[in-house]
Amino acid sequence: MLVSSILVIFLLNFVQCKKLLLTGDVLTSLNVQLQELMHLQKLATWDYETNLTDFNLAKKLEMDVNLASFQKQASYNLSKYKWKSERDGVLQRERLFYLRLEEEILPPKKYKRLKEIMSKMIHIYSTAKICDYSYPTKCDLALLPDIENIFAGNSSEDELRYTWIERRKAVGPKVRDLFQEYVQLVNEAAQKNGYDDASEYYLREHTDPDIKKKLKHYNRRLRSLYEQLHAYVRFKLRKKYGNSTSEIGSIPAHLLGDLTAQKWSGIAQVTLPYPEPYENFDNLKQQNYTVTDIARLAEDFYKSLNLSKMPNSFWRKSVFQKLTDTNMTCNPSAWDFYDGQNFRLKTCLKTDREGYETLHHWMGHIQYFLQYQGLDIKLRNAATDALFDSVGGAFSLAAFSLKHLKRVGLYRGEISTKADINNLYTVSE
Ligand SMILES: [Zn+2]
Repeated sequence: MLVSSILVIFLLNFVQCKKLLLTGDVLTSLNVQLQELMHLQKLATWDYETNLTDFNLAKKLEMDVNLASFQKQASYNLSKYKWKSERDGVLQRERLFYLRLEEEILPPKKYKRLKEIMSKMIHIYSTAKICDYSYPTKCDLALLPDIENIFAGNSSEDELRYTWIERRKAVGPKVRDLFQEYVQLVNEAAQKNGYDDASEYYLREHTDPDIKKKLKHYNRRLRSLYEQLHAYVRFKLRKKYGNSTSEIGSIPAHLLGDLTAQKWSGIAQVTLPYPEPYENFDNLKQQNYTVTDIARLAEDFYKSLNLSKMPNSFWRKSVFQKLTDTNMTCNPSAWDFYDGQNFRLKTCLKTDREGYETLHHWMGHIQYFLQYQGLDIKLRNAATDALFDSVGGAFSLAAFSLKHLKRVGLYRGEISTKADINNLYTVSE
């Protein structure tokens, strides 16, 4: 027994000695290839998301698969190298990022299927249409701008309920089977990576074994505030919609001023703590602002903080408003094309409060991209998704301060305690 153990250790050491030593040069060469593939994949994804055609989807999937197979191969190749240079923390970190596979760990066919399912779900969500409440034969109502306008406007409870249900019916059943397959595949990838399931896998980036406990703790601490806020909004909505909202239960989602109940600018006028003063951003239109003008305003804001101006490609190639000649995805997103030059936003905005908020928020993401440009490709990423998003969030909150709004001519009232409280309430969505 002892003899065989010694033999195994000897053999392992022998194999280890045969390994080549990993140097920075090896990583540099991998980085160049990876950067090129990520650039091409990003371009193909952009083409697809701004023009949802089968041709663009096929091109995008091809790039997805190419990138995945490169990463798999790189991980395998690097695992053959001996690692000695613990002193170089950056090199060590890059090496670990290369070794760690994500969904690419799936067999190529399954990986491609996963990417295809995700694209198909996006396509269905972005292009579903419903019929109009008042004109049942008019069946071309899109998520943006039609349905969003219904929720943000002064629609009746009947119309809101009808629209909410019809939109769910137009999307839910069509994505149902795809979503179940998606869950199966991401769970399989997570298990291959040594996690119980995808939910455990998503928590890995926090690198804190107590993350669940901590979140529960903060949830408990904030709960009473949430409960009071919920009761307050319900009380106000009952005043408007009567018994459609119960006196003690939950609030029906279709009454929250937004299809996904993610923001409450749609019900701000009904629920504001004080009737006045309230800045509704009407003066953006009065001053003939375009969406690009608001983007310039956002850029000025970042420059005033000594951050970067947007590169030329940003102004030439970003999509700020919904394209009318193609089907596109409208969820706001910020894009780094990994070539050090191309950074873009993709949004479907109007010249309103939301346009102002979205442009300030997402330009914060581009600032993040611009700041990490000097790093190797594997390090050009946020520490965690939560941190990445809070950068944009923190800046856009600052851009909503009454003082700043007044400075740029978008708030003309007095700065008072009531104005501040209304403002804070509105931005706390
Ligand atoms: Zn964000």
